[in-house]
Amino acid sequence: MKPKPFRIEPTFVPRIWGARSLAPLYPEKSNLPEPIGEAWLTGVDCKVASGPFAGKALGEAWREMPPEWRGTRFTAPGDFPILVKFIFPNDKLSIQVHPDDAYAGAHEQAAGGRGKTEMWHSLYAESEAGVLIGLDPKVDKESFIKAMENRTLEDLFVHWRVQPGDTFFVPAGTPHTIGPGMVLCEIQEYSDLTYRVYDYGRVDGKGIPRELHIKKALDVIQFGRPIGAKTSRIRLGSAKFQSGECWLIPAGMEKLALAPGGLLKVLRTYVPDMTALSARLKDAGCGFQEIEKTIFE
Ligand SMILES: [Zn+2]
Repeated sequence: MKPKPFRIEPTFVPRIWGARSLAPLYPEKSNLPEPIGEAWLTGVDCKVASGPFAGKALGEAWREMPPEWRGTRFTAPGDFPILVKFIFPNDKLSIQVHPDDAYAGAHEQAAGGRGKTEMWHSLYAESEAGVLIGLDPKVDKESFIKAMENRTLEDLFVHWRVQPGDTFFVPAGTPHTIGPGMVLCEIQEYSDLTYRVYDYGRVDGKGIPRELHIKKALDVIQFGRPIGAKTSRIRLGSAKFQSGECWLIPAGMEKLALAPGGLLKVLRTYVPDMTALSARLKDAGCGFQEIEKTIFE
């Protein structure tokens, strides 16, 4: 079985703070009956949609994949390592924190035992969009508890404006929340351990507030730690391209990624294998005369 790319179907997760339309990313998901907050792109329950594992759940496909598909870091069988999501906040998320691997390993074996460090890359952001990541280093446990009681927790945070293309690093132990008016791609350790500290007094459709996990949160929050949350861009051997330019891609290239800043039309030209091209055109329903106009010796 030769390794080749395959497509994975996202799983859509309802959230109290989610959006009723996921357009333009998912145009068919508009006028939703309940708000969707997250599209899990690499959830272990997501269905594989093409290739030799089509129809299986990603977690199952991952276990069955030969080691050369999984890569040299994952030769031993284990869980799928990384969870990628789109986040569609239409309201603030809860103020929350995630445990690190050590804490989760000691206290959360039943929930998978893995902590969660995460990263957010903004795909879209309105001018007022913002996130809170990390506490002012002067904040200690006592002042945090006091602000929790007074509902003034937001004042203790470092506030970050979000623009499209920004990336933020959120290490485990860093309290955070995401505001409305943006779409984020979230990349995180494969864990669903979230300790909610404050949920803005919200209740669900049945009038029930979501559970808070204050004791655990206070256990894992790293007080007094300076946080450099917004990351700078580092280009690793990449080059900028502009409209009208021509690039040669050597045949021996292992990997090539295009990252367009907007709508992009790429014209790829190459020397074809005439016999194979003729067969492809025939398969596509082209008649002999039409093919003759295109292929000639
Ligand atoms: Zn989080």
